[in-house]
Amino acid sequence: MDKSVKNIAILGSTGSIGRQTLQVVRNLHSRFRVVGLAAGQNMELLSEQISEFKPKYIYYQNQKSRFQIPNSNFLPMEEIAGLPEVDTVVIATSGKAGLSATIAAVRAGKNVAIANKEPLVMAGEIITGEAKRRGANILPIDSEHSAIWQCLRGEKQPPSRIILTASGGPFLGYSESQLARVTANQALKHPSWKMGKKVTIDSATLMNKGLEIIEAHWLFGVPIDNISVIIHPQSIIHSIVEFADGSLKAQLSYPDMRLPIQYALTQPERVPNPELPQLDWNKTRVMTFGPPDLKAFPCLELAISAARKGGTYPTVLCAADEVAVDLFMKKEIKFTDIARLVKQALKNHKPITHPTLEDITETDERTRKLTLKLARKKK
Ligand code: MG
Repeated sequence: MDKSVKNIAILGSTGSIGRQTLQVVRNLHSRFRVVGLAAGQNMELLSEQISEFKPKYIYYQNQKSRFQIPNSNFLPMEEIAGLPEVDTVVIATSGKAGLSATIAAVRAGKNVAIANKEPLVMAGEIITGEAKRRGANILPIDSEHSAIWQCLRGEKQPPSRIILTASGGPFLGYSESQLARVTANQALKHPSWKMGKKVTIDSATLMNKGLEIIEAHWLFGVPIDNISVIIHPQSIIHSIVEFADGSLKAQLSYPDMRLPIQYALTQPERVPNPELPQLDWNKTRVMTFGPPDLKAFPCLELAISAARKGGTYPTVLCAADEVAVDLFMKKEIKFTDIARLVKQALKNHKPITHPTLEDITETDERTRKLTLKLARKKK
């Protein structure tokens, strides 16, 4: 077997990041072999992916509709993540779904290319601690974190500040009363990024940026208060790192998730990919920046406050948000109810400091029930 070919498993292969990862792999087919694919809902697409990439191991969430594939073995995601023949596990799941597989991959000492931010937000202390003990590499795919990672490479000192850029989402400039009337279809139309539904709604509320602050804190060991957010609607600068001498470094490219995905898979090597757009300075002439509107978009401050308190607060933040976003997409609550429900769930919480995985799972389940109850109470 060719040692230079890396074996990868993609968990969440039918979602937005999963599909774009397979596009990258298709382009770099001499470097990667897909040995595992896991998906939640889309059996039709998973079947197509299986016939093209011929993985040895498969997971499909809907056990009832298990389908028979010759030469493939069905395994739980956690087992696929820990298989000895897997070099790199791509965590492309959404919400809490990737938590236990992320932990399994880290415990098995894998390269863990992570796009799903909730596992790090909920269990950052456990995941980074285990990664250190087991020699696992956590490779960020989230574009802001990939940018920070690229800027920090070769630097000997930690940054004095991290500045996360945010597009501002589809409702940039909206007032609170305008936001109370927006629909899920409007929220799903992101102006610059092509992403999954949960992340797209989180971008519209700015919860996504709040989760990214917590993610950056765990990935780069930077204190929460040294991480700030600026609105940059063009989404060309993917984040900025500031050093002790006041010098700033940024990473620029058109918003296309295939670039951070490819970098996580090929790093430290940079590989040409004709499918990736090159920045055209004749077209891109203006880049603007401004502060976020914390009053109209309270989710950002809710996340910062949960991050400062730590313990199980970030788990409550994620669980309440996931339930609220789902209710909003089903047209059961208003857009502005997302922040209201998250705020109430956080207020009701009795925290646990340095939680175990069991504490996190219990807090998650309890918060989901509570958030549903709070949502019904209003009606
Ligand atoms: Mg991001």
